[in-house]
Amino acid sequence: MEDFMLKDKCAVITGASRGIGKAIAIKFAKEGANIVINYRNNEEEALKVKEELDALGSKTLVVKADVSEIKEAEHLIKEAKKEFGKVDILVNNAGITKDNLLIRMKEEDFDSVIKVNLKGAFNCLKAVTPIMLKQRSGKIVNMSSVVGVVGNPGQVNYCASKAGLIGMTKSLAREIGSRGITVNAIAPGFIDTDMTRVLNEDQKKNILSQVPLNRFGSVEDIANTAVFLASDNSNYITGQVIHVDGGMAM
Ligand code: NAP
Repeated sequence: MEDFMLKDKCAVITGASRGIGKAIAIKFAKEGANIVINYRNNEEEALKVKEELDALGSKTLVVKADVSEIKEAEHLIKEAKKEFGKVDILVNNAGITKDNLLIRMKEEDFDSVIKVNLKGAFNCLKAVTPIMLKQRSGKIVNMSSVVGVVGNPGQVNYCASKAGLIGMTKSLAREIGSRGITVNAIAPGFIDTDMTRVLNEDQKKNILSQVPLNRFGSVEDIANTAVFLASDNSNYITGQVIHVDGGMAM
């Protein structure tokens, strides 16, 4: 019989209606997990993901919540606990961009990116940590970015949020490691999703010239790493940033 890496685990994945979050949800379900699919606006897409997971035999729950609002993040985690009686895995994946050169960046575009990408993760962590501490187990995966490590012109807000997530990951890993909870980050390079489809051909060419593996990453590349970090195969790994970027940053 096939071994499932996440059999009967309850995984909450923020921003799972599209892109990387959706791919993680599918991969986790294939590994036997039950999934809480979170989204903010795109209900139609979230319900399509649910259909796909149901067909894989996963128990699923769809929860609309804007993770940047602490009450909504609390609601998300509470619903997960109510439905499945536990939360084994949290993937803080929800994220947005509002790119511009600093000189032209509006204050609200700085604030909103920090509020979703960084504070949103904090809100979900605040809600889930007491549950995991009580369970004396848990796996947390925060979605950072290669640009949070190396920087990127036009993304002062986004890079600050993703660098902040790395600091948050390492600090929390130190706080709760003794209770058997691991906290790690993934730093994807350029992955083919709605977020990167807005890049023009020149920008794409320029990015590819910096990628030794000479291709954009796929959502499955990230999902494979997320499964590893959410599974028992990574039990002695915490506070780490795993680069999945085709060699962009080394
Ligand atoms: P995407 O295709 O734009 O999808 C973003 C997801 O986040 C959607 O499900 C969206 O929900 C959700 N979301 C946005 N704001 C939210 C909020 N306030 N509360 C709850 N959900 C929210 O993005 P992606 O490319 O898959 O990126 C996923 C993560 O990976 C992000 O954190 C991103 O920064 C990071 N990342 C991406 C790349 C890349 O190249 N694509 C590279 C490095 C890091 P709705 O559908 O309801 O809008």
